[in-house]
Amino acid sequence: MKITVLSLFPEILRGFFESSIMAKAVERGLMSYELVDIRGYATDKHRKCDDEVFGGGAGMLMLPGPAGAALEAAGSGRRPDGSPGARTVFVTPSGRLFNQAYAAELAREEELVLFCGRYEGLDQRIIEKYVTDEISIGDYVLSSGEVAALVLVDAIYRLVPGVIKGESLAEESFSPMGEGGAGLLEYPQYTRPAEYATMRVPEVLTSGHHANIARWRLEASLAKTIAYRPELLAPAAGLPEEVRRLLRKLCAEGSSYEPDTEDPGRAD
Ligand code: SAM
Repeated sequence: MKITVLSLFPEILRGFFESSIMAKAVERGLMSYELVDIRGYATDKHRKCDDEVFGGGAGMLMLPGPAGAALEAAGSGRRPDGSPGARTVFVTPSGRLFNQAYAAELAREEELVLFCGRYEGLDQRIIEKYVTDEISIGDYVLSSGEVAALVLVDAIYRLVPGVIKGESLAEESFSPMGEGGAGLLEYPQYTRPAEYATMRVPEVLTSGHHANIARWRLEASLAKTIAYRPELLAPAAGLPEEVRRLLRKLCAEGSSYEPDTEDPGRAD
């Protein structure tokens, strides 16, 4: 997969692409990337990239000229033969909310272009001409798009086959459990020592009993999801019937439910 990120401050992004798992993925030929300085497409002598907003209001807007030229060069919009160009994301708080399923969808693209906004954002005509996806990373406003673009890149590239081990992805938070299901939050995890500051690891996790461990983890995932993200458990989430049954049982036991570490394998 190739990711091209367009920014007025590409140096903010470089460290991520040159470090750790991303650097290894690039070295192994699984990923490639290009960081484009939008200012390089400004045509006036001051390399101006912003101007006032028509209609008034505080703040400046990114100029369509340099933004459009940079996107065109990156392969966004229509290709000369009329076919659609690269899938192109504008990160913006007024976009569709990003989540794991959206990351998985974008990870299937061969090529992605990400545009980082600054100031009050981007001229609407550029969005209409070049952008296929307007994406928000959450209901808050950042001062610029670089951090949001890196959030997307990080969530997406780790799902590209081969970048990290498949089994590491299998039981993560939001891993789909059923047909198109949203998935649960991940269960609590522990490592050595088995006792730390008088707190012991739940006994079942050191028992070696795989079925009981799986059951404990599922209950713990459900308990955490009930507490923090109950909307993930909506009927539309597509959870398998066995999980829904367990959920009904936990709800009947009260919302302050904690997974039973003594007898995890007990019958319903
Ligand atoms: N005027 C915009 C609004 O109210 O929706 C906010 C602009 S913000 C100060 C500048 C840039 O930061 C945006 O163009 C966008 O690229 C980025 N940004 C800020 N918050 C974001 C979010 N929650 N998700 C994605 N990008 C965001």
